Amino acid sequence: PLSRLPEVGTTIFTVMSRMAQEAGAINLSQGFPDFHAEPVLFERVAHWMRAGMNQYPPMAGVAPLREAIARKVEALYGARYDVETEVTVTAGATQALFTAVAALVHPGDEVIVFEPVYDSYVPAIELQGGVPVRLTLEAPDYRPDWAAVAAAITPRTRMIMINTPHNPTGAVWSGEDMAQLAALVRGTDIVVVADEVYEHIVFDGRRHESCARHPALAERSLIVSSFGKTYHITGWKVGYVLGPAALMAEFRKVHQFNVFTVNTPVQYALADYMAEPQRHLALAGFYQAKRDRFRAALGASRFTLLPCAGTYFQLAGYEAIGDRPDVDFVRWLTCEIGVAAIPVSAFHHDGRDARVVRFCFAKHEDTLDAACERLARL
Ligand code: PMP
Ligand code: GLN
Repeated sequence: PLSRLPEVGTTIFTVMSRMAQEAGAINLSQGFPDFHAEPVLFERVAHWMRAGMNQYPPMAGVAPLREAIARKVEALYGARYDVETEVTVTAGATQALFTAVAALVHPGDEVIVFEPVYDSYVPAIELQGGVPVRLTLEAPDYRPDWAAVAAAITPRTRMIMINTPHNPTGAVWSGEDMAQLAALVRGTDIVVVADEVYEHIVFDGRRHESCARHPALAERSLIVSSFGKTYHITGWKVGYVLGPAALMAEFRKVHQFNVFTVNTPVQYALADYMAEPQRHLALAGFYQAKRDRFRAALGASRFTLLPCAGTYFQLAGYEAIGDRPDVDFVRWLTCEIGVAAIPVSAFHHDGRDARVVRFCFAKHEDTLDAACERLARL
């Protein structure tokens, strides 16, 4: 057969953004801000382009950016990563996740993932001949069932892919969750791939439990983050990976052949931008206000809002509005009501449908208000 991914179609984010555009709907589906980054960041990119930084950077990323990342991580999580051997700049988190899997998963290896699962993980595993082992996170709080995780671990388990804060549910793992994970992987050779792209978007005084905070996890983890989420530049596709030197050496063996490196002027610009002030510290409050505005506007609606502890996504049950499959509901919502959302069944391999949709609230207040005006009428 031609296809190595016969079950895979076009990603739901592309499908829904296209539908939103065709319908002229307010697009709360694919996760991206509808506002700009600060002009100073654009100025820094232009500066470095004019300064001639337009040729290949070092394979792992330019030194000032790796240093800025390592400084931030040490300040926030108390972990020191060596900039030469333990930090790599990537073309966004998607490439980092794919590369991590390609570097470490052998055919037949089992990789534990949690559904609802971000849609790029399982295809990456399957392309390597790995075997996805899916556990389910249950509403309303979508926390892992640690007894089920323990039961799912076998001698073939090679990797556990985690994501906190979690897309699409907005769940945030606690220190206790991290301790449970650490206890399960202790004494094994399981690698943790930690997707922490929403690390700075945690609400109500919570603390992000990076694997970097937990030495027993950090020693076996590749931690992935993305500047797209943190600095409102999803289209720039720049992120990074942290990990112990032995894992990073394997990561780089693949990285050097699937992208080699990431565009130079943006890396220098991001290094400048990260230096001072520490803008990532303001992100949680910034998005918490948007979450609160969005939830308040839908408070009296017929949507059932699930808890949202982090990320810029809000889950909403719609059963009171109409009992139909979520894929049909979002099509109707987009084309007839003029608000696009993501059906959560897209994050389940078996199409499991709890009649819940995901809204992205990384939007101008005007955009949120206009969308809520339409949603609250239903
Ligand atoms: N992981 C998760 C959980 C995400 O939500 C996203 C993007 N929305 C990514 C990875 C990919 O990030 P990037 O755009 O940097 O590739
Ligand atoms: N991660 C973004 C989301 O969850 C979308 C990224 C993409 O379109 N690949 O909406």
